[in-house]
Order: sequence, then structure tokens, then C-alpha cells
Amino acid sequence: MPGGGELSYAQGMAAVHETSHWMGLLHTFEGDSCTSDGDFIADTPQQSVSTDQYPRSPAKDTYPDQPRLDPIYNYMDYSTDECYEGFMPMQHQRMMEMWAMHRAGHVAA
Ligand SMILES: [Zn+2]
Repeated sequence: MPGGGELSYAQGMAAVHETSHWMGLLHTFEGDSCTSDGDFIADTPQQSVSTDQYPRSPAKDTYPDQPRLDPIYNYMDYSTDECYEGFMPMQHQRMMEMWAMHRAGHVAA
């Protein structure tokens, strides 16, 4: 968080990451396996381990036999704040569905 000791992770993007968990998303590396369902999101690339820092070169690719690189730019990885860019379309869809199912219209008693 801002003001924290680890500068590359202290620009506020942890709030996006954690809020996205609250909105129903799992980590892109969930399950740490190439045979599991991972994050249960079909359009995020398979990823076996979380990302540390911002691996620019060589590109991080824990499944070189699959067509896409690791989603290091995704808010649901563990990359640095500078590295994060956004979500995949089906992650947006999941959050909207989870919001409608679990959050919207529920008033605390
Ligand atoms: Zn997390």
C-alpha cells in the first residue's frame, strides 16, 4: 500500500488486487498446476507460479508448450504495481456476475 516499505508494490495496486478477490476472482496462478482448472477463467493464460517483480526479459512463460506467455500484466498475479495493466474480458464478466449474485441489492440488517 502507499507508504509501505516495498516501493515497487506500494503504489496502490494491491487495493485493486484485493478488491478483485472480494469481487470473486482467484489468482491467475491458482492451483500451481498445468492440469488444474487454475483460476476458473477461460481466457487467462495457464500459469504455474506467481510472478515476482516485473520480469521484462526473458518473458516469463511457465508453460512454453502453450500459446501464450504468463499473464504478468494481470492484476491477479503478484507482479509489481508498475507491471499491472488490467484484467481479461472473462474476469470482468466474472466480477459483474459475482456482484449481481452476492453483492448488489443485499442490505445489511
Ligand atoms: Zn491475492
